[in-house]
Amino acid sequence: MMKFRAIYDLAIEVGIHHDPRGEAEIEKVLEKKNKQYEDMKDDEKEFFDADELTNPYSDTRMLTGDPDTEINGLIAGIDMETQEIVLADRLREKGEKIDLVLAHHPEGKALAALADVMAMQADIWAKYGVPINIGDDLIGERMTEVRRGLMPINHNRAVDAARLLGFCFMNSHTPCDNLVMDFVQRYLDEKAPSTMGDIIKALREIPEYKDAALNNSGPAIVAGDSSKRPGKVVVDMTGGTEGPEAAMERLADAGVGTIVGMHFSEKLRKKASENHMNLIVAGHIASDAIGMNLFLDKLENNGVTVLTTSGLVRVKRS
Ligand SMILES: [Zn+2]
Repeated sequence: MMKFRAIYDLAIEVGIHHDPRGEAEIEKVLEKKNKQYEDMKDDEKEFFDADELTNPYSDTRMLTGDPDTEINGLIAGIDMETQEIVLADRLREKGEKIDLVLAHHPEGKALAALADVMAMQADIWAKYGVPINIGDDLIGERMTEVRRGLMPINHNRAVDAARLLGFCFMNSHTPCDNLVMDFVQRYLDEKAPSTMGDIIKALREIPEYKDAALNNSGPAIVAGDSSKRPGKVVVDMTGGTEGPEAAMERLADAGVGTIVGMHFSEKLRKKASENHMNLIVAGHIASDAIGMNLFLDKLENNGVTVLTTSGLVRVKRS
């Protein structure tokens, strides 16, 4: 059993611990936020989300429910929307212990603010040799585009459903994406695959990807071919959503040979091909599932009962 707030705090803690920027950089980001808040006038403070002072992930929030609620059981999934919340209620009627609905993808205020977390992409590219000034410029434009794209959405539908049915509801997006990115990068570094085909084979040994492969949605090469040598392999699975296509060129120039990601738009794929870069789609939902599973291990180890749905095949590792 864990308190609702403890589950949220743990998500932020593991997210920071596995953040590709490193913990020192996160500290700087949070310090800057605190300074910004202090300098605000009272009428501005009213509209400031206080979670930003301690949580560097705009796309991860407690969405409804009393933070002091004891969570004995939860249902987790990749997308937890009104239909899944009604499903949770049916399961609860049948006797399942469900106090919390835990989504991966953002809902409510976390969805509305998804774009803010994307700034970290510039830091990730900088690790691979793209100058931070170029990275900041490229991601800034793309963030504005994503922010505008999210404006028409009815963000709070699922949150309203959870509130009416009396569930605690939260989501953990970037923290879990940090977990999967770190996990798959270490795994591939250790395997040191010599061809693109070898990367696919190695990925298929991970249970979530194997399951996806058995369901026609396994890892696939979308730029390059299986006999090619991959060069420097970079796993790119965090930072909110897809970055700008111009980053492909910069990453290629910086020496990245192959990107293993969750998904790539046609624009990104073309840009990568033009720059002789290879791309592997590891699989969106299967990758998200790995990140969630790594987090759920920690909750189960604290005595919380876990049910999964919405594309999340539970694999327990520790
Ligand atoms: Zn996702």
